[in-house]
Amino acid sequence: MAKDEPKCAFCGRSRNDVGILIIGPDGANICDECARLCVEMTENQSARKNARAEPMSPAKIAETVSKIRTEEKPEPKPLQPIALKKPAEIRAVLDDYVIGQEQAKKVLSVAVYNHYKRLNDKLSGGNAAEGAAANPELDSVEVEKSNILVIGPTGCGKTLLARTLARMLDVPFAISDATTLTQAGYVGEDVENILVRLLQAADGDVKRAETGIVYIDEIDKIGRKGDSASLTRDVSGEGVQQALLKIIEGSLCNIPPNGGRKHPDQKYVQIDTSNILFICGGAFVGLERIIGSRIGNKFLGFDTSEKSGQELSADKIMAELQPEDLFEFGMIPEFIGRLPIVSALSQLRSKDLVHILTQPKNALIKQYQKLFAMEGAKLVFEEGAVSAIAEKAIRLGTGARGLRSILEKLMLDTMYELPGRGNAKRVTVTADVVEGKAKPEISS
Ligand code: ADP
Repeated sequence: MAKDEPKCAFCGRSRNDVGILIIGPDGANICDECARLCVEMTENQSARKNARAEPMSPAKIAETVSKIRTEEKPEPKPLQPIALKKPAEIRAVLDDYVIGQEQAKKVLSVAVYNHYKRLNDKLSGGNAAEGAAANPELDSVEVEKSNILVIGPTGCGKTLLARTLARMLDVPFAISDATTLTQAGYVGEDVENILVRLLQAADGDVKRAETGIVYIDEIDKIGRKGDSASLTRDVSGEGVQQALLKIIEGSLCNIPPNGGRKHPDQKYVQIDTSNILFICGGAFVGLERIIGSRIGNKFLGFDTSEKSGQELSADKIMAELQPEDLFEFGMIPEFIGRLPIVSALSQLRSKDLVHILTQPKNALIKQYQKLFAMEGAKLVFEEGAVSAIAEKAIRLGTGARGLRSILEKLMLDTMYELPGRGNAKRVTVTADVVEGKAKPEISS
């Protein structure tokens, strides 16, 4: 190296070894990397305070720069394969929490099993595929990600299924509402915020977030409005579908770690979405009619026969649903293509709601019984009371979602009085109480 070749006064590297060398008077040169580190240091609050108290000499800056450079960065924790259960075992866990929805549970168990098997295979460098050695042709086959679309009315367990799966697998889980999303540049949430939530659910651990599950609710609400020949740009519908495509198909996304809208001065975290499982859910009201008119049966979906009502209609959707029906509904083909697994959930019937109230591990009625037991009282629902609650929820049309608020209203007065009475031993709720014709009976 020539003796007077300009060098960075901080790191000592010559012009050829750095990107840009900014030449200052009397050899006070600085390379782009040192300049960047200096900016980072001044951005740091405490560095700024120190700088004000005691001006930094070039030697001190050089020392700090080299310290930052050589500082040991914590190695990111290697990602452990997900402890995976077999589809039948996954299904058994779902059975503990989700009532009914047998077909959906089966479809999701297999889909989730395959998804995480694929991920574990990647984590093990492709060695997990049993028998791959015997069939080298399969070595180069890459199993594509299969995101899931669940179709079913409000309060039938779509979110619950996704949440239960994530809990069982112990992977980060985030829920987003498609109706709050807009394409970049418009008022509303950027689609990347979906990933911000997932990152938060993973406590900021990017690698863990990259193996998580995202549930996007109300996906049917971002259907294209009107026909595609519309001259006006469809901000809320098609634009959001387009924006979501990139994320759900698997790509590297830059996200602002604390959420909010992107702006040029922000620092980003990069998340690879190729192993994130996206489950999109929606009620798709009117889809049955679309399928019905395509196959020439106007009454599909309005089956009122004894056997099953809505359950039959959900089965029929699954049997007949074609991508073109979802297109007709307003989903763009690229979007439909990225949700290859479709499952329909049925409207919950009265007997399912009774089950939900009484059977699951954390059944609502058990929860109230526990609360009352803490007051020393036994809470008893007489025959007919539980089914009256179920019937009331059906009339509300919000599926199992309405059960909690019905019970809360029902028990409010008693929960208000009970702690003051001290000697109550038993509280009895009858069907008349549910129908508002009587008050719960409190006996000592
Ligand atoms: P949605 O289908 O609208 O996503 P959710 O899964 O959010 O409905 O259901 C709302 C609540 O209702 C759940 O948290 C759960 O308590 C209850 N619930 C709904 N469906 C079921 C079900 N099939 N089995 C048990 N509980 C259910």
